[in-house]
Amino acid sequence: MGGKGFNQAVAAALATGGGSRGNVSFYGTVGDDEAGKMLKDKLFSRWGLKNDTLFLDPAKATGRAIIQVADDGENSIVLFNGANHSEIIEDQEKLWPAGTTHLLLQNEITLKSTIKALESALGLTTIFNPSPMLTNDEITRFPWSKVDWLIVNHIEARSLLASLSLQDSPQDIKDVLNDLTRQEALVSTRIVCTLGSNGVLASVPGVPVVFMPAAPLQGPVVDTTGAGDTFAGYFVAELMALDRQDVQEVDVARLLKVATRAAAMCVERAGTVDSMPAAEEVERRFG
Ligand code: ADP
Repeated sequence: MGGKGFNQAVAAALATGGGSRGNVSFYGTVGDDEAGKMLKDKLFSRWGLKNDTLFLDPAKATGRAIIQVADDGENSIVLFNGANHSEIIEDQEKLWPAGTTHLLLQNEITLKSTIKALESALGLTTIFNPSPMLTNDEITRFPWSKVDWLIVNHIEARSLLASLSLQDSPQDIKDVLNDLTRQEALVSTRIVCTLGSNGVLASVPGVPVVFMPAAPLQGPVVDTTGAGDTFAGYFVAELMALDRQDVQEVDVARLLKVATRAAAMCVERAGTVDSMPAAEEVERRFG
C-alpha cells in the first residue's frame, strides 16, 4: 500500500495519535477495483484517518508503485499513475472543510491538481514535498510563493536549484541550501533538506540554519522506503502542535528532532506504512 500522499497521511495520523492530537484527512482518488477497495478499507479501518475525502474515478485503475529494495536498504520505484492522475480533484469546488489548518502536498497527482489545491489553501499552512521533483518547465511556472514549507531530499534540492538558477549546483549541500534560499521564487519559503543517514538541514528566514543528525539506530538498516514520508508526516504533525506563527530556532530543532527520530525507526523495519512507528513507540525509545 502506498503513494506518497497516503504514506505521509498515515505518518501524520500516527504522529497525532490517531486523532487525539489533531485530525488527518487523506485526499486522493482510487479506481473502482480491488486495489482501490483494499486501500479504502484499510485506510479507514486501520489508521484513524478521516474517511470522507477519498474520491472514486470509475474510468481509471488505482495507481500502483513497484518498489525495488536493494540489500543495503536503498530503493528504486516505478510508478503507474492510474487514478492518481484523475481530474476529479481539479473539479472540486471546495476542498478544505472549516477548521483545516495545514495542507501537505506531494507530486504524485497532476500538477494541475496540486496547484489547484495550493491556490485554494488561503490561510492554511502549506507544506510541499515535491517528490518526484517537477520538470524544469514545471519548476519555472510553479507558484512557489504559496508554499510555506518545502521539504526536499538532497537530490531534489540540487535539481531544483539547477532549474531555478540555470547553473550547476555546488558540491556542498549547505551551499545548495544557501543558494536555494536566495532564489527569488523561494525568498519567503522555509526549506527543509533531508540528507538520508546524514540527517537534515533546515533554513527558515530570520533563523540560523539548523542541522539535525540522523537519530541513532538500534539495528541495521533494513528498508529505507517510507523514511522520507515518515519524516514529512511527523514533521507536519509537530508543526500542527506549534502554538506560534513566527517559528524560532528552538521550534525548528524540535520539529527536526521528532521527525528524524520517527524516520530512523522506519528504516529499521521492512515495508512502508507498516514500518512507520506510532508516536508512543518514538516516545518510548527517545523520551
Ligand atoms: P527520502 O526518502 O525522501 O529520499 P531521506 O533518504 O533523506 O529522504 O530520509 C529522510 C530522513 O529519514 C532523513 O533526514 C533521516 O532523518 C532519516 N533516515 C534516512 N535514512 C536513514 C538511516 N540510514 N539512518 C537513520 N535515519 C535515516
